[in-house]
Amino acid sequence: MFVDQARIRIEAGDGGDGAVSFHREKYVAAGGPDGGDGGKGGDVIFVADDNFSSLIDFRFKRKYQAQRGENGSSKRCTGKSAPDLVIKVPRGTVIREAQSGRILADISGDEPVVVAKGGRGGKGNQHFASSTRQVPRFAKPGFVGEKMDVLLELKLLADVGLVGFPNVGKSTLISVVSAAKPKIANYHFTTLTPVLGVVRVDEEKSFVMADIPGLIEGAAEGAGLGHAFLRHVERCRLIVHVLDCAGSEDRDPIEDFCKINTELQNFSEQLSECPQIVAANKSDLATEEQITRLREYIEGQGLPFYVISAATVQGTKPLIAEIAKQLEQLPPVKRFEPDEVPVAEQNEGQRFTVEVVDGVYCVDAPWMEPIMRTVNPDDWSSLQYFERVLRSSGIIDKLESMGIQEGDTVSIGGVEFDYVD
Ligand code: GDP
Ligand code: MG
Repeated sequence: MFVDQARIRIEAGDGGDGAVSFHREKYVAAGGPDGGDGGKGGDVIFVADDNFSSLIDFRFKRKYQAQRGENGSSKRCTGKSAPDLVIKVPRGTVIREAQSGRILADISGDEPVVVAKGGRGGKGNQHFASSTRQVPRFAKPGFVGEKMDVLLELKLLADVGLVGFPNVGKSTLISVVSAAKPKIANYHFTTLTPVLGVVRVDEEKSFVMADIPGLIEGAAEGAGLGHAFLRHVERCRLIVHVLDCAGSEDRDPIEDFCKINTELQNFSEQLSECPQIVAANKSDLATEEQITRLREYIEGQGLPFYVISAATVQGTKPLIAEIAKQLEQLPPVKRFEPDEVPVAEQNEGQRFTVEVVDGVYCVDAPWMEPIMRTVNPDDWSSLQYFERVLRSSGIIDKLESMGIQEGDTVSIGGVEFDYVD
């Protein structure tokens, strides 16, 4: 089965917590703080792997979690950082954040891309000694790793895409000009997966051609099979529009041509602006009049027109030469740039909601959990730090705007405390 879309959850590891510890030695009364820092959580990294050609694996395993960094320990020992989690995907996979649809990465090159960053480790109490605070009984929690649902979408990397109605001869064409061996048969939708073929032009030059399953009317609205495959034409530099110039299935090739172009346009404006070459196939079955009529129409549209017969390999050489010539002038295969994060959302890491349940102000803020874990209620500076976080994140403002009173109970991450003005 060819799968070119998947939704998975990726979770980078949280940072390890800093340690609270004091140097101990025989006969030494009060040693200084020696709590080490937490280690970094693992990143979630994507990398292209040419052994994969579809996203099928992601239908079976949907959750990918990197490990948490180790906590710091005494004697200034830094916790071990967690290893990164590397996810292999077929080349050409575009990764989007599911919630916003924002493009995070296009895995087309060879460089691995960090998509979810692991949290940094928290600082141990060794860092918090000062002249006024000689006994720091607190350390910082590790930072939370990035966690999100992502959509994976495979958009094949090809220079040229073959488009056209089912049965016009696309698969036959690619099979005679490249080493690709797609299924060829006289019934619709024989091509259920896009097929890539390398076309050799001469000793140095070659390009990649994609046989895209037949497009049919309504495909852009998802009515037919073709729609799902249009994304594979998106990166193409050039479209070869294959027509059955003999009308061997009782359709008018001019009508076919218009319908397919409407489909392309409905799918994306950009796609309809992609340069096209028309290949009038099955010329061995066509009459002179049929060919002339089609030629006049296509050339009238200002498009290059090539008469071929894929089955007998006639006319394919000039077509390939024209494709190669045009490719030389065209920009490289499209890469999708990551979308910028809107400024308003950059503070997303500190989002929270507050709900009053039975008089208790319940704050839901998952990023606070590691902080709650390491707050030391017996230590004044630790509580100070906690309060600073409550203020800077806007939680206190929110509670006050909801009318919280001195002595009311606040619950965060399973810890309850009284609100003090
Ligand atoms: P696709 O659906 O566009 O990929 O079409 P195929 O390549 O599978 O071809 C559909 C049918 O048309 C097959 O039976 C082919 O043998 C036949 N065919 C393809 N090209 C030609 C051609 O140039 N001349 C003739 N007579 N038949 C062709
Ligand atoms: Mg086919």
